[in-house]
Amino acid sequence: MASSFPAAPASATLARSRLWVPRRVLVTRAARAWPHAAVIIERAAAMGAEVIELPGDRIVMATPDDPRRAYAEAKATLAVVVAPPSKLKLEPIAPSADWRVDLAAGCPAHCSYCYLAGSLKGAPITRVYANLDQILDTLPGYVGRGTITSSSRARAHEGTTFEASCYTDPLGIEPVTGSLSAMIAWFGRAGLDAQLRFTTKFADVEPLLGLEHNGRTRMRASINPARFARFEGGTAPVAQRLAALRRMADAGYPVGLTIAPIIAAPGWEEAYGELIDMAATALSDAHDLDLTIELITHRFTTGSKAVLDSWYPGSALDMTAQNRVTKRTKFGTEKQVYDADTMARLRGFFLASLERALPTARVLYWT
Ligand code: SF4
Repeated sequence: MASSFPAAPASATLARSRLWVPRRVLVTRAARAWPHAAVIIERAAAMGAEVIELPGDRIVMATPDDPRRAYAEAKATLAVVVAPPSKLKLEPIAPSADWRVDLAAGCPAHCSYCYLAGSLKGAPITRVYANLDQILDTLPGYVGRGTITSSSRARAHEGTTFEASCYTDPLGIEPVTGSLSAMIAWFGRAGLDAQLRFTTKFADVEPLLGLEHNGRTRMRASINPARFARFEGGTAPVAQRLAALRRMADAGYPVGLTIAPIIAAPGWEEAYGELIDMAATALSDAHDLDLTIELITHRFTTGSKAVLDSWYPGSALDMTAQNRVTKRTKFGTEKQVYDADTMARLRGFFLASLERALPTARVLYWT
Protein backbone atom coordinates (compact mmCIF):
# COMPACT_ATOMS: atom_id res chain seq x y z
CA MET A 1 0.00 0.00 0.00
CA ALA A 2 1.31 3.46 -0.87
CA SER A 3 2.07 5.55 2.16
CA SER A 4 0.17 8.78 2.78
CA PHE A 5 2.96 9.95 5.03
CA PRO A 6 6.02 11.62 3.57
CA ALA A 7 9.26 9.95 4.58
CA ALA A 8 10.95 11.86 7.38
CA PRO A 9 13.82 14.03 6.13
CA ALA A 10 17.26 12.73 7.04
CA SER A 11 17.81 15.86 9.11
CA ALA A 12 14.95 14.79 11.40
CA THR A 13 16.84 11.74 12.54
CA LEU A 14 20.27 13.31 12.55
CA ALA A 15 19.27 16.47 14.38
CA ARG A 16 20.71 16.75 17.88
CA SER A 17 18.31 16.11 20.70
CA ARG A 18 17.73 19.37 22.50
CA LEU A 19 17.68 19.41 26.28
CA TRP A 20 14.68 21.14 27.72
CA VAL A 21 15.65 24.31 29.56
CA PRO A 22 12.68 25.98 31.25
CA ARG A 23 12.42 29.72 30.72
CA ARG A 24 11.54 30.17 34.38
CA VAL A 25 11.44 28.02 37.51
CA LEU A 26 8.90 28.94 40.18
CA VAL A 27 9.65 27.62 43.67
CA THR A 28 6.97 27.61 46.33
CA ARG A 29 7.75 28.49 49.94
CA ALA A 30 7.03 24.98 51.24
CA ALA A 31 9.17 23.38 48.52
CA ARG A 32 12.21 25.39 49.61
CA ALA A 33 12.29 23.43 52.88
CA TRP A 34 13.26 20.25 50.99
CA PRO A 35 16.91 19.59 49.99
CA HIS A 36 15.85 18.33 46.54
CA ALA A 37 14.50 21.80 45.72
CA ALA A 38 18.00 23.22 46.24
CA VAL A 39 19.37 20.68 43.74
CA ILE A 40 16.79 21.75 41.15
CA ILE A 41 17.35 25.46 41.78
CA GLU A 42 21.10 25.04 41.32
CA ARG A 43 20.67 23.05 38.09
CA ALA A 44 18.10 25.50 36.71
CA ALA A 45 20.26 28.53 37.43
CA ALA A 46 23.30 26.86 35.84
CA MET A 47 21.20 26.17 32.72
CA GLY A 48 20.24 29.84 32.46
CA ALA A 49 16.64 29.60 33.67
CA GLU A 50 15.17 32.45 35.68
CA VAL A 51 14.53 31.20 39.24
CA ILE A 52 11.63 32.90 41.04
CA GLU A 53 10.96 32.24 44.73
CA LEU A 54 7.21 32.53 45.30
CA PRO A 55 6.05 34.16 48.55
CA GLY A 56 3.52 31.38 49.26
CA ASP A 57 2.52 27.92 48.13
CA ARG A 58 0.23 28.83 45.25
CA ILE A 59 1.70 28.86 41.76
CA VAL A 60 1.27 32.43 40.60
CA MET A 61 2.32 33.53 37.13
CA ALA A 62 1.16 36.36 34.91
CA THR A 63 -0.07 34.85 31.65
CA PRO A 64 -0.77 36.59 28.34
CA ASP A 65 -4.42 36.94 27.21
CA ASP A 66 -3.66 35.26 23.88
CA PRO A 67 -4.28 31.51 24.49
CA ARG A 68 -1.44 30.44 22.16
CA ARG A 69 1.08 32.56 24.04
CA ALA A 70 -0.37 31.52 27.40
CA TYR A 71 0.10 27.87 26.42
CA ALA A 72 3.69 28.52 25.30
CA GLU A 73 4.56 30.37 28.51
CA ALA A 74 3.08 27.62 30.68
CA LYS A 75 4.95 24.90 28.76
CA ALA A 76 8.19 26.86 29.27
CA THR A 77 7.68 26.94 33.05
CA LEU A 78 8.75 24.49 35.74
CA ALA A 79 7.22 24.78 39.19
CA VAL A 80 8.93 23.20 42.18
CA VAL A 81 6.21 22.25 44.65
CA VAL A 82 5.51 19.84 47.51
CA ALA A 83 3.49 16.88 46.28
CA PRO A 84 0.02 16.86 47.81
CA PRO A 85 -0.78 14.11 50.38
CA SER A 86 -2.65 12.15 47.66
CA LYS A 87 0.71 11.48 46.00
CA LEU A 88 1.86 9.62 49.10
CA LYS A 89 -0.97 7.12 48.68
CA LEU A 90 -0.24 5.12 45.54
CA GLU A 91 -2.80 3.93 43.01
CA PRO A 92 -2.71 0.68 41.00
CA ILE A 93 -1.84 1.25 37.35
CA ALA A 94 -2.39 -1.95 35.38
CA PRO A 95 -1.36 -2.96 32.82
CA SER A 96 1.87 -0.92 32.81
CA ALA A 97 2.82 -1.67 36.46
CA ASP A 98 1.47 -2.61 39.85
CA TRP A 99 1.66 0.91 41.28
CA ARG A 100 1.96 4.45 39.99
CA VAL A 101 4.60 6.68 41.58
CA ASP A 102 4.84 10.31 40.49
CA LEU A 103 7.95 12.47 40.62
CA ALA A 104 6.27 15.27 38.66
CA ALA A 105 3.08 16.20 36.81
CA GLY A 106 3.24 17.72 33.34
CA CYS A 107 5.66 17.56 30.44
CA PRO A 108 7.38 20.17 28.29
CA ALA A 109 6.79 18.35 24.98
CA HIS A 110 3.92 19.04 22.57
CA CYS A 111 2.44 15.72 21.43
CA SER A 112 -0.87 16.24 19.68
CA TYR A 113 -2.33 13.09 21.26
CA CYS A 114 -0.95 13.64 24.78
CA TYR A 115 -2.92 11.68 27.37
CA LEU A 116 -2.10 14.32 29.99
CA ALA A 117 -4.53 16.70 28.28
CA GLY A 118 -7.39 14.69 29.76
CA SER A 119 -5.95 14.09 33.19
CA LEU A 120 -4.22 17.29 34.31
CA LYS A 121 -6.18 20.41 35.04
CA GLY A 122 -5.20 24.03 34.51
CA ALA A 123 -2.31 25.60 32.63
CA PRO A 124 0.23 23.03 31.34
CA ILE A 125 3.01 24.04 33.74
CA THR A 126 5.24 21.10 34.71
CA ARG A 127 5.23 20.61 38.48
CA VAL A 128 8.12 18.68 39.99
CA TYR A 129 8.00 17.39 43.55
CA ALA A 130 10.56 18.65 46.04
CA ASN A 131 9.61 16.03 48.65
CA LEU A 132 10.91 13.15 46.53
CA ASP A 133 12.47 11.50 49.62
CA GLN A 134 9.08 11.43 51.32
CA ILE A 135 7.50 9.85 48.22
CA LEU A 136 10.23 7.20 48.06
CA ASP A 137 9.78 6.42 51.77
CA THR A 138 6.23 5.23 51.05
CA LEU A 139 7.28 2.61 48.50
CA PRO A 140 8.41 -0.26 50.78
CA GLY A 141 4.86 -0.38 52.16
CA TYR A 142 3.59 -1.38 48.70
CA VAL A 143 6.10 -4.13 47.93
CA GLY A 144 4.41 -7.52 47.74
CA ARG A 145 1.01 -5.91 47.21
CA GLY A 146 -0.95 -5.40 44.00
CA THR A 147 -3.66 -6.94 41.87
CA ILE A 148 -2.70 -9.96 39.78
CA THR A 149 -3.28 -9.29 36.08
CA SER A 150 -2.03 -11.03 32.93
CA SER A 151 0.62 -8.31 32.46
CA SER A 152 1.76 -8.49 36.10
CA ARG A 153 2.01 -12.29 35.77
CA ALA A 154 4.27 -11.80 32.73
CA ARG A 155 6.74 -9.85 34.86
CA ALA A 156 6.18 -11.52 38.23
CA HIS A 157 9.88 -12.45 38.48
CA GLU A 158 10.70 -8.73 38.58
CA GLY A 159 8.91 -8.16 41.88
CA THR A 160 6.49 -5.35 42.58
CA THR A 161 6.61 -2.76 39.81
CA PHE A 162 6.33 1.02 40.12
CA GLU A 163 5.57 3.17 37.05
CA ALA A 164 7.02 6.71 37.03
CA SER A 165 5.74 7.90 33.63
CA CYS A 166 2.00 8.21 34.19
CA TYR A 167 1.90 11.96 34.65
CA THR A 168 5.19 13.13 33.16
CA ASP A 169 8.12 12.17 30.95
CA PRO A 170 10.77 11.69 33.67
CA LEU A 171 13.72 11.73 31.24
CA GLY A 172 12.46 14.86 29.49
CA ILE A 173 12.76 16.88 32.70
CA GLU A 174 15.76 15.02 34.11
CA PRO A 175 18.46 17.55 33.08
CA VAL A 176 16.89 20.21 35.28
CA THR A 177 15.43 18.02 38.07
CA GLY A 178 17.78 15.07 38.69
CA SER A 179 14.71 13.28 40.12
CA LEU A 180 14.92 10.23 37.86
CA SER A 181 18.58 9.60 38.71
CA ALA A 182 17.72 9.86 42.41
CA MET A 183 14.92 7.31 42.00
CA ILE A 184 17.04 4.87 40.00
CA ALA A 185 19.80 5.03 42.61
CA TRP A 186 17.22 4.54 45.39
CA PHE A 187 15.82 1.38 43.76
CA GLY A 188 19.36 0.18 43.13
CA ARG A 189 20.32 0.28 46.80
CA ALA A 190 16.94 -0.38 48.48
CA GLY A 191 17.33 -4.18 48.42
CA LEU A 192 13.61 -4.60 47.70
CA ASP A 193 11.93 -7.16 45.46
CA ALA A 194 10.78 -4.28 43.29
CA GLN A 195 11.38 -2.55 39.98
CA LEU A 196 11.13 1.05 38.84
CA ARG A 197 9.73 1.48 35.34
CA PHE A 198 9.73 4.54 33.15
CA THR A 199 8.99 5.20 29.51
CA THR A 200 10.17 8.19 27.53
CA LYS A 201 10.16 10.06 24.25
CA PHE A 202 13.49 11.69 25.08
CA ALA A 203 17.04 10.44 24.58
CA ASP A 204 19.53 12.07 26.94
CA VAL A 205 20.44 8.99 28.99
CA GLU A 206 24.04 10.01 29.63
CA PRO A 207 23.46 10.82 33.35
CA LEU A 208 21.81 7.41 33.91
CA LEU A 209 24.49 5.19 32.41
CA GLY A 210 26.86 5.15 35.37
CA LEU A 211 24.27 4.81 38.14
CA GLU A 212 24.25 1.79 40.48
CA HIS A 213 20.91 0.58 39.15
CA ASN A 214 21.43 -3.13 40.02
CA GLY A 215 18.98 -4.09 37.29
CA ARG A 216 16.13 -2.63 39.34
CA THR A 217 14.98 -0.10 36.70
CA ARG A 218 13.52 -0.87 33.30
CA MET A 219 13.62 1.94 30.74
CA ARG A 220 11.27 1.73 27.79
CA ALA A 221 11.55 3.92 24.73
CA SER A 222 8.14 5.24 23.71
CA ILE A 223 8.24 5.16 19.94
CA ASN A 224 6.30 5.97 16.83
CA PRO A 225 7.38 6.02 13.16
CA ALA A 226 9.62 8.89 12.03
CA ARG A 227 6.87 9.70 9.52
CA PHE A 228 4.62 10.59 12.49
CA ALA A 229 7.17 12.97 14.02
CA ARG A 230 4.88 15.93 13.44
CA PHE A 231 2.55 14.53 16.12
CA GLU A 232 5.38 14.57 18.70
CA GLY A 233 6.67 18.15 18.90
CA GLY A 234 9.55 18.83 21.28
CA THR A 235 10.54 15.18 21.69
CA ALA A 236 13.75 13.50 20.55
CA PRO A 237 13.79 11.96 17.05
CA VAL A 238 12.85 8.28 17.23
CA ALA A 239 16.27 7.15 15.98
CA GLN A 240 17.83 8.90 18.98
CA ARG A 241 15.37 7.27 21.38
CA LEU A 242 16.30 3.85 20.04
CA ALA A 243 20.03 4.63 20.20
CA ALA A 244 19.52 5.77 23.81
CA LEU A 245 17.72 2.52 24.62
CA ARG A 246 20.63 0.55 23.21
CA ARG A 247 23.05 2.50 25.40
CA MET A 248 20.93 1.68 28.44
CA ALA A 249 20.86 -2.02 27.49
CA ASP A 250 24.64 -1.93 27.14
CA ALA A 251 24.82 -0.38 30.62
CA GLY A 252 22.99 -3.45 31.97
CA TYR A 253 19.49 -2.04 32.32
CA PRO A 254 16.49 -4.17 31.39
CA VAL A 255 14.81 -2.28 28.56
CA GLY A 256 11.60 -2.18 26.58
CA LEU A 257 9.64 -0.66 23.74
CA THR A 258 6.37 1.14 24.35
CA ILE A 259 4.84 1.45 20.90
CA ALA A 260 2.37 4.20 21.65
CA PRO A 261 0.03 5.46 20.65
CA ILE A 262 -0.48 3.19 17.66
CA ILE A 263 -2.17 5.35 15.04
CA ALA A 264 -4.18 3.65 12.28
CA ALA A 265 -3.70 6.39 9.72
CA PRO A 266 -3.37 5.56 6.00
CA GLY A 267 0.01 3.92 5.39
CA TRP A 268 0.32 2.62 8.96
CA GLU A 269 1.54 -0.84 7.95
CA GLU A 270 4.51 0.49 6.04
CA ALA A 271 5.29 3.13 8.69
CA TYR A 272 5.17 0.68 11.62
CA GLY A 273 6.99 -2.00 9.64
CA GLU A 274 9.87 0.45 9.20
CA LEU A 275 9.75 1.34 12.88
CA ILE A 276 9.95 -2.28 14.03
CA ASP A 277 12.86 -2.94 11.67
CA MET A 278 14.58 0.18 13.00
CA ALA A 279 14.16 -1.06 16.58
CA ALA A 280 15.50 -4.50 15.67
CA THR A 281 18.57 -2.95 14.04
CA ALA A 282 19.20 -0.66 17.01
CA LEU A 283 19.11 -3.59 19.45
CA SER A 284 20.78 -6.24 17.31
CA ASP A 285 23.58 -8.20 19.02
CA ALA A 286 22.99 -6.47 22.37
CA HIS A 287 24.56 -8.62 25.07
CA ASP A 288 22.09 -10.33 27.48
CA LEU A 289 19.24 -8.25 26.10
CA ASP A 290 16.17 -8.25 28.39
CA LEU A 291 13.50 -6.67 26.17
CA THR A 292 9.78 -6.24 26.76
CA ILE A 293 7.16 -4.72 24.48
CA GLU A 294 3.98 -2.83 25.32
CA LEU A 295 1.42 -2.00 22.62
CA ILE A 296 -1.06 0.83 23.20
CA THR A 297 -3.53 1.99 20.55
CA HIS A 298 -4.58 5.60 20.19
CA ARG A 299 -7.62 6.64 22.21
CA PHE A 300 -9.13 9.86 23.46
CA THR A 301 -12.00 11.18 25.54
CA THR A 302 -14.35 14.06 24.79
CA GLY A 303 -12.49 16.09 27.42
CA SER A 304 -8.99 15.34 26.16
CA LYS A 305 -10.05 16.02 22.55
CA ALA A 306 -11.39 19.44 23.52
CA VAL A 307 -8.13 20.36 25.27
CA LEU A 308 -5.96 18.99 22.46
CA ASP A 309 -8.03 20.80 19.81
CA SER A 310 -7.42 24.06 21.68
CA TRP A 311 -3.69 23.42 22.09
CA TYR A 312 -3.02 22.07 18.59
CA PRO A 313 -5.76 23.47 16.32
CA GLY A 314 -3.91 22.61 13.10
CA SER A 315 -3.04 19.01 14.01
CA ALA A 316 -3.55 16.40 11.30
CA LEU A 317 -4.18 13.70 13.91
CA ASP A 318 -7.54 12.09 13.21
CA MET A 319 -9.89 12.32 16.20
CA THR A 320 -13.13 12.00 14.27
CA ALA A 321 -15.67 9.21 14.72
CA GLN A 322 -14.27 7.31 11.74
CA ASN A 323 -13.20 3.75 12.66
CA ARG A 324 -14.03 4.46 16.32
CA VAL A 325 -16.30 3.00 18.95
CA THR A 326 -17.12 4.20 22.44
CA LYS A 327 -15.73 2.12 25.29
CA ARG A 328 -16.81 2.51 28.89
CA THR A 329 -14.03 2.34 31.45
CA LYS A 330 -14.28 0.64 34.84
CA PHE A 331 -14.49 4.16 36.32
CA GLY A 332 -17.70 4.84 34.37
CA THR A 333 -16.08 7.26 31.91
CA GLU A 334 -16.08 6.87 28.13
CA LYS A 335 -13.26 6.84 25.63
CA GLN A 336 -13.04 6.56 21.87
CA VAL A 337 -11.03 3.55 20.70
CA TYR A 338 -10.58 1.92 17.30
CA ASP A 339 -13.41 -0.37 16.18
CA ALA A 340 -13.11 -4.16 16.37
CA ASP A 341 -12.07 -4.62 12.75
CA THR A 342 -9.32 -1.99 12.93
CA MET A 343 -8.12 -3.37 16.26
CA ALA A 344 -7.94 -6.90 14.89
CA ARG A 345 -5.92 -5.82 11.85
CA LEU A 346 -3.53 -3.76 13.98
CA ARG A 347 -3.07 -6.50 16.54
CA GLY A 348 -2.44 -9.20 13.94
CA PHE A 349 0.10 -7.01 12.16
CA PHE A 350 2.05 -6.06 15.31
CA LEU A 351 2.21 -9.52 16.83
CA ALA A 352 3.38 -11.08 13.55
CA SER A 353 5.90 -8.31 12.78
CA LEU A 354 7.39 -8.37 16.27
CA GLU A 355 7.64 -12.16 16.26
CA ARG A 356 9.59 -11.90 13.00
CA ALA A 357 11.87 -8.96 13.89
CA LEU A 358 12.32 -9.29 17.65
CA PRO A 359 11.62 -12.97 18.45
CA THR A 360 13.17 -12.94 21.93
CA ALA A 361 11.15 -9.96 23.19
CA ARG A 362 8.31 -10.51 25.67
CA VAL A 363 5.07 -8.77 24.68
CA LEU A 364 3.52 -7.70 27.98
CA TYR A 365 0.14 -6.43 26.79
CA TRP A 366 -1.97 -5.03 23.98
CA THR A 367 -4.55 -2.37 24.69
FE1 SF4 B 1 2.59 13.94 26.62
FE2 SF4 B 1 4.48 12.02 26.63
FE3 SF4 B 1 4.37 13.79 24.64
FE4 SF4 B 1 5.13 14.55 27.07
S1 SF4 B 1 6.24 13.14 25.74
S2 SF4 B 1 3.72 15.67 25.69
S3 SF4 B 1 3.85 13.27 28.38
S4 SF4 B 1 2.81 12.23 25.16
